[in-house]
Amino acid sequence: MTPCIFCKIIKGELPCTKVYEDADVLAFLDIKPVNPGHTLVIPKRHYVSIHDMPDELVGKVAIVAKKVADAILRIGSKGVNIGMNNGEAAGQVVFHAHVHIMPRYGKDKFSLWVGKEYDGNERQVVAERIKAEL
Ligand code: AMP
Ligand code: ZN
Repeated sequence: MTPCIFCKIIKGELPCTKVYEDADVLAFLDIKPVNPGHTLVIPKRHYVSIHDMPDELVGKVAIVAKKVADAILRIGSKGVNIGMNNGEAAGQVVFHAHVHIMPRYGKDKFSLWVGKEYDGNERQVVAERIKAEL
């Protein structure tokens, strides 16, 4: 198995630019930021994505994500995108769960998704399918 780079960062075997740490959560700067200050918030225990994380830990990571986002606003960012890629199809490249906190300045060349239109009753059908799984 490929060694997990984020586990190596947690163990101190690889460097990082740390901005926050507690018993369960670490936050450090992304090496290829969307904008300066782009931060990754990760659980210290290895989980692949949000789907295998215990709910309580999801909560702890989310609280740290908000703290970091608040701090990023206080140093001058105009807005903040908070995002998480879960699964290869969703663009996940590092398979240790992590939340991106991305400082934004309006027209800064970082683009999000383009919305599609639903066909026929597809919207209702997909909503019913999701509800049935909740
Ligand atoms: P994702 O597509 O959500 O898996 O994004 C992984 C992120 O990890 C990318 O934005 C990378 O720039 C970032 N990254 C990869 N290696 C490192 C590292 N050693 N230190 C900091 N960030 C990293
Ligand atoms: Zn890991």
